[in-house]
Amino acid sequence: MFDLRQRLEARRAAGRQRFRRLTDGPVGPLQRVDGREILTFCSNDYLGLASHPEIAESLRRATRIYGTGSGSAHLINGHTRAHHALEEALAEFTGRPRALLFSTGYMANLGTVGALLSRGDSLIEDRLNHASLIDAGTLSGAKRLRYAHGDAEAADLQLARAAGNCLLVTDGVFSMDGDLAPLPALAEAAQAHGAWLMVDDAHGIGVLGPGGRGSLSHFGLGLTEAPVLMGTLGKAIGTAGAFVAGDEDLIEYLIGAARTYLFTTAMPAAIAEATRTALGLVVREDWRRERLQQLIAQLRAGASALDLELMPSATPIQPLRIGDSARALAAAETLWAQGILVPAIRPPTVAEGQARLRITLSAAHEPAHIDRLLDALATIRTPQ
Ligand code: PMP
Repeated sequence: MFDLRQRLEARRAAGRQRFRRLTDGPVGPLQRVDGREILTFCSNDYLGLASHPEIAESLRRATRIYGTGSGSAHLINGHTRAHHALEEALAEFTGRPRALLFSTGYMANLGTVGALLSRGDSLIEDRLNHASLIDAGTLSGAKRLRYAHGDAEAADLQLARAAGNCLLVTDGVFSMDGDLAPLPALAEAAQAHGAWLMVDDAHGIGVLGPGGRGSLSHFGLGLTEAPVLMGTLGKAIGTAGAFVAGDEDLIEYLIGAARTYLFTTAMPAAIAEATRTALGLVVREDWRRERLQQLIAQLRAGASALDLELMPSATPIQPLRIGDSARALAAAETLWAQGILVPAIRPPTVAEGQARLRITLSAAHEPAHIDRLLDALATIRTPQ
């Protein structure tokens, strides 16, 4: 039957078995991890909002009003005024007529792609798209056509081979590389072939564009160029959940057709209220994005002075490619020994030979934290 012991042993032998560290207290640059005070460069809390007192207070207040659990799906009696107000705020934030809340980004991708496509249709995907988009394609039953990372011409060639309803889907900011998709060229290719462009902006929302409105807004693209926008709330926004924003018909259609919307419990209303508070801070506090840019510049200049070549990225995801998995793990261990947590990202999360240290920055970091990281990076060996 299921010989899990054997499977686990094989995984361990291949260095693929994962383990979890135990953290205490709120997410932040300094956190207790496995009982030690650690300087972390690994969360997606890009704006430093995940433990903001105003948002926490909003959560407490709303819990007194709504309780802790929503009790049912949105279509039963789980859709409160708090959820509704957040959807309206997200629609306004993204400059789109409507938005729809999902419980996680993973579910938003599965539900949306699955509702839009079926057998006979085509999903055109960047090779480095997030796992949830890859899984969404598999589940949808559509023909899957992948193109070379960030290559709009290759996407165009795949669009020419596609059949049925065609959805071109890409991360806005790639989660393991930190680079931006060539959204204007992808939008043009999609439009030329009568396809729709869907952008998963999990790592762009809050960080890029005016007011943190994301990668599409960074490029000045809107609903016409990209009819489907997915954003998550558990990263820069500092809470949990996700949304899809688009026109009236898209949202009404998803309400009835997205299975991960229909058949799951609504996020707690208090989370929705806290998220609305967070959204206000995201828009108002430009200094957080400015601070991030300063920290990114400091890290990149410091790494370059050490002859360490960070991958090309202008976002808070600043990976250092190591190549070999064992070396990446050893590098992470060297940092850990100095009280710094930077994860080694290895296959299958990235391709074979592409293991890396995934350094992520937050507006909550201080310049002195970056100096400490640079001092520690100076002690690791990278291949020349
Ligand atoms: N898309 C991308 C690009 C992501 O990085 C993630 C989370 N790592 C998700 C979707 C899933 O979002 P969530 O964590 O809210 O399920």
